[in-house]
Amino acid sequence: SGINFDNYDDIPVEASGNDVPEPISDFTSPPLDELLLENITRARFTKPTPVQKYSVPIIAAGRDLMACAQTGSGKTGGFLFPVLSESFANGPAPVPEQASNYYIKKAFPTAVVLAPTRELATQIFDEAKKFTYRSWVRPCVVYGGADIGSQIKELNRGCDLLVATPGRLSDLLERGRISLCNIKYLVLDEADRMLDMGFEPQIRHIVDGCDMPNVDNRQTLMFSATFPVDIQHLARDFLKDYVFLSVGRVGS
Ligand code: ADP
Ligand code: MG
Repeated sequence: SGINFDNYDDIPVEASGNDVPEPISDFTSPPLDELLLENITRARFTKPTPVQKYSVPIIAAGRDLMACAQTGSGKTGGFLFPVLSESFANGPAPVPEQASNYYIKKAFPTAVVLAPTRELATQIFDEAKKFTYRSWVRPCVVYGGADIGSQIKELNRGCDLLVATPGRLSDLLERGRISLCNIKYLVLDEADRMLDMGFEPQIRHIVDGCDMPNVDNRQTLMFSATFPVDIQHLARDFLKDYVFLSVGRVGS
């Protein structure tokens, strides 16, 4: 699986929605953050994949996104690049007052990426480590079936970008270990697989959580290989004035 990097410019991409931003043709136009570009170059990503050409300017313009694209099309960079570029430029968000005198130490991530499995979460975390090299952004990963105590220890060392499976994040929210009050980006990766695995209640708990007061400032980005009716409902419920992107042939 995956895309052929020699002729991927031929892959058809459809973008629809209000005022869809123009796609980019390379990583330097419009400029991504300089440190991020260095990290992209170090990873030997010479040009954006079709989904990245569209998703980078759409997300950078502050839009919500529903993107359907096959496995291997480069979706991880498609959301990490614009999110990290903006984060690098903005610097850390101020931590709310309550944090200093609250007896449980909380993490206040500004970006959360939900993924269906430990394996996928770890892959995204590894990419995030590569592209946050030498930046102020500290990525963390949490998933079920592993010791929660050591994950909490890691979170307590600082967590700006959190990659999580829905069940474990929901659990950590219940325990008061994570606050989503600083969240600016919520990414649902492989949304169709998360629903197939029965994670809809946990996803709704996370998204509807009263612990997310800045909901109007939050950008929500959904990625899925297919676009069946339950994914359409999530998009309707979570996304505002979103751009719909479909790359290659997409099943329903
Ligand atoms: P998806 O999430 O769509 O399945 P990934 O983001 O995991 O795809 O990317 C698939 C593979 O392609 C990964 O090994 C990734 O490092 C590589 N890749 C992604 N974007 C680029 C790029 N612009 N140039 C070169 N390789 C890339
Ligand atoms: Mg992926």
